Amino acid sequence: MANSVEARSRRVRVLATLGPASRSPEMIEKLFRAGADAFRVNMSHGAQADHAQTIAHIRALEKQLGRPTTILVDLQGPKLRVGSFAEGMVLLKTGQTFVLDRDTTPGDQSRVCLPHRELFVALEEGARLLLDDGKLVLRVVAHSHDRIETVVEVGGALSNNKGLNVPDVVVPLAALTEKDRSDLAFALDQGVDWVALSFVQRPEDVAEARRMIGGRAALLAKIEKPAALERLDAIIELADAVMVARGDLGVELPPQAVPPMQKRIVEAARRMGRPVVVATQMLESMIKAPTPTRAEVSDVATAIYDGADAVMLSAESAAGDWPVESVAMMNAIAEAVERDPGYAARVHFTETRPDPTTADALAEASGEIARTIGAAAIICFTTSGSTARRVARERPSAPLLVLTPRMETARRLGLLWGAHAVRTRDVSSFEEMIGKSKRMALRHGLAKAGDRVIIMAGVPFGTPGSTNVVHVARISGDELRGHRTD
Ligand code: PGA
Ligand code: MN
Repeated sequence: MANSVEARSRRVRVLATLGPASRSPEMIEKLFRAGADAFRVNMSHGAQADHAQTIAHIRALEKQLGRPTTILVDLQGPKLRVGSFAEGMVLLKTGQTFVLDRDTTPGDQSRVCLPHRELFVALEEGARLLLDDGKLVLRVVAHSHDRIETVVEVGGALSNNKGLNVPDVVVPLAALTEKDRSDLAFALDQGVDWVALSFVQRPEDVAEARRMIGGRAALLAKIEKPAALERLDAIIELADAVMVARGDLGVELPPQAVPPMQKRIVEAARRMGRPVVVATQMLESMIKAPTPTRAEVSDVATAIYDGADAVMLSAESAAGDWPVESVAMMNAIAEAVERDPGYAARVHFTETRPDPTTADALAEASGEIARTIGAAAIICFTTSGSTARRVARERPSAPLLVLTPRMETARRLGLLWGAHAVRTRDVSSFEEMIGKSKRMALRHGLAKAGDRVIIMAGVPFGTPGSTNVVHVARISGDELRGHRTD
């Protein structure tokens, strides 16, 4: 990037998790310069006070660079855990009986406490309990309100507070735990742009979180439970974005079931015009090594060819030895994929037919005009960002320059495919609209003299939800003189 306000040369966004390895101001800036468009703060680890500092550092960088920056706070969600053991750990043998109960005394070879009352009645005979990321498997043979009797199907070592996954039943857990509620209040108080909801099971979970957020942040639903797949469309409809959370999804489902699900989720989200993030283990080996495996590179490339809006780094950028290199690698993969002449055809494999609305008709038209005349950019005036999302849904050949008077809109658009968002004053006349479009396209490195750009706006100006104009303009170069600073 020649300067910090210039648009990235790629369409897919990079979402980098910050953590102990990367939350200093210097590292955050390095990650941004290496290609991170949005930052994830994971409430499963660390204290609110540390996260508050991280968020302050990101906002300081945003100010320094003069460019909207996106912050996503990821709530831990109702992650189930077993209690602790007298000896710290036990070795469960395949075939033995093992009991989970409500007794808080430390566990042993035959039993352990399970501090989740809701689970005892919800279980069904024959259901599987997966422990420690699926390394151990128990099968329920009997259950009551205070005791679950299981047979160990796959044994192994089990230590204190290991995670428990229950893929076979919908667990009647609240969408947000007490910790989540506190973390959500914290996140909203910090003015973050996105909140991610973990272990979504039902559309009602998303609806409940939405009510609590009350429009103060956008909401991303993490798809990591088989139950969520059964009501996928309804969940996506209620969310502002979704994540293919392959970590937990790959525990609850056999690993080979994850790729077809990833395709299904990405396709459904794209059809509905919601940004979709592909996450977890994308460059896993880079936690310890400066270069990824060929298989990891191929995995990232596949998500990009499928048209995902964003790809995510977890421990690679948060706690690994090579955070900057991991982001740089994602950036390099994205640039290589998007340079491939076959990329456009693959991205358009997913059909996104326009809804019968003016906004969609114009979004589709602008995509076609861009392709026909080889426009350098599609410039979109929007208040809520909704027009930008419908244009991005078309996956047009030209990058999208989004001009909005609202900072929160500009920040939220950091997860949207192909969008470069800028906050700027609204225009009040057609002439001003064209002038500003040309200047902004030049300043942000999206067009040069002689290029044509497509402008989308709503007339009368300043009325949200009224996009009704598509205009083609040619950049003469005169715009560079008499440079204004809006
Ligand atoms: P997590 O979510 O990193 O918060 O567990 C992502 C996933 O499960 O893939
Ligand atoms: Mn998860």
